[in-house]
Amino acid sequence: MKITGVETHLLQVGARPAVPGLGTSRGADGHGGSRNWLFVRVLTDEGIHGVGEGSGWPRVVRAAVEDYANLLIGEDPRDVDRLWHKLYLGSMGHGLLGTVGGGALSAIEMALWDIKGKALGLPVWQLLGGRFRDRIPVYGHAKTPERARELMALGIKGVKVGFTGAVDIDAVAAVRDAVGSEVDVMVDAHGPSWMTPQDAILVGRELEQLDILFYEDPVAPENLDALERVRDALDVPIAAGERVATLWGMRPYIERDLVDVIQPDTGRAGGITQMRKMAAMAEAHFITMAPHSGSLGPVAEFAALHVMASIPNALMLERVEFDWPGRAEVVAPALRTVDGCLPVPDAPGLGVDLMLEEIAKHPSVRNVATFPDDGQAFEPGTAAEHNYFQTRRARARRLRGRWE
Ligand SMILES: [Mg+2]
Repeated sequence: MKITGVETHLLQVGARPAVPGLGTSRGADGHGGSRNWLFVRVLTDEGIHGVGEGSGWPRVVRAAVEDYANLLIGEDPRDVDRLWHKLYLGSMGHGLLGTVGGGALSAIEMALWDIKGKALGLPVWQLLGGRFRDRIPVYGHAKTPERARELMALGIKGVKVGFTGAVDIDAVAAVRDAVGSEVDVMVDAHGPSWMTPQDAILVGRELEQLDILFYEDPVAPENLDALERVRDALDVPIAAGERVATLWGMRPYIERDLVDVIQPDTGRAGGITQMRKMAAMAEAHFITMAPHSGSLGPVAEFAALHVMASIPNALMLERVEFDWPGRAEVVAPALRTVDGCLPVPDAPGLGVDLMLEEIAKHPSVRNVATFPDDGQAFEPGTAAEHNYFQTRRARARRLRGRWE
């Protein structure tokens, strides 16, 4: 079997912005209308094709995939690991891979596993050593008790409260109260550049009282010494790792025991095998894995299910449950949450295919956003315009509240 071609399929997620470049249409969680999904198809001379998905700046990843395609034509797609290393070495002149290179490798490697599974008539999890479980628990996103209850109605047992400005402890407490003791609550601070270790620790001490499953990205991932300081100061589990790629990117989080949960992004971690290796390294430290999926599309979700089915230390899978309806239209079959879980696919390969006509209806318009996009935290002409003020002011307000 030989590879004959590599296609890329890029699409805009959510309603199209009214004014290109300035649009505010969000879909449900459309990141200000800036979200793109990049899917690939790897074609072979035996009529089998594989599908994959790359994140890590999808518009740019598309160019990287097209560059890599030259190294794949004529190769046997079933030599998954050898081809991964061929591509990895082929781009070393460009510097460290980062998440763009990781995204391209993820998309291609995922498609190679899909081809191999289809050729052998087996689901990918079977090729990874078999499965521990036939369904994977998911957690959803909620900032309000009302949205948390909507998730619970689907049987979901995990709710994450995320913030792009200061962490609102009262909002976390309201969700905690609403869901009861049987549902896990997580908090994502999104590792903002302005969050100092002192502020992150102050927030974390309050979270210690709220019985949360993990405190995610309390500080910016660019400074792991700050993360270590936060981790050492708190008695609350820490999660991180969604913004790094490859085993070497995740290595310090695990080796330094900076986290209790690693969160590789299935679209940019480097591929299925890279995620398996991360899971194995984490297992040696009794660290669990909860793959990131905040902005990912449905093909990466399928890949995550195969990985999580086959590792002992799978925790939960992130899922944007109330998303753009296109999530269920651009692939077949569509994943549906049942009793708080996604079923592990049984079909050969990844068990999913692209609906190319649907994808073509949503051409990419833009792929960067200003965060937060709710108009609250970066209000022009105010002190809040400067993002470093965000948590400083929130901290001052909280401390003032204690004195009064
Ligand atoms: Mg996150």
